[in-house]
Amino acid sequence: MVFREKCERRRAMHELSVALSLLEQIDSVASREGATRIASVRLRVGQMSGIVRDALVFSWELARADTVASEAALLIDDVAVAVWCPQCEAERGVRTGEGLTCITCGTAAPTIVRGRELELIAVEVIS
Ligand SMILES: [Zn+2]
Repeated sequence: MVFREKCERRRAMHELSVALSLLEQIDSVASREGATRIASVRLRVGQMSGIVRDALVFSWELARADTVASEAALLIDDVAVAVWCPQCEAERGVRTGEGLTCITCGTAAPTIVRGRELELIAVEVIS
């Protein structure tokens, strides 16, 4: 049980450092735009980004206090994993629980084309 707690704490530390780095980016956008407050922030988070959504939201709530984003809405777009299937010669979803295989034909498809991103895609400022 102790081990599990340690893991969860380390987990949360990871999302906290992600939240802090997002807030740095947001802060520089705000200063560039001459804004004192941020209305909303939109992220794209891939299913294979290694980010746990709930932990990120929790860390965001902690980290944003007393920043330009203290009242900003956090909007998260989940990005499903997609691979390039050499058999279909197309972008496909992946079958779950079988490694990376094409959802359509079952061919091994190790090339991930989407789903690992963690991107800040929009910051809506209040000037
Ligand atoms: Zn396929």
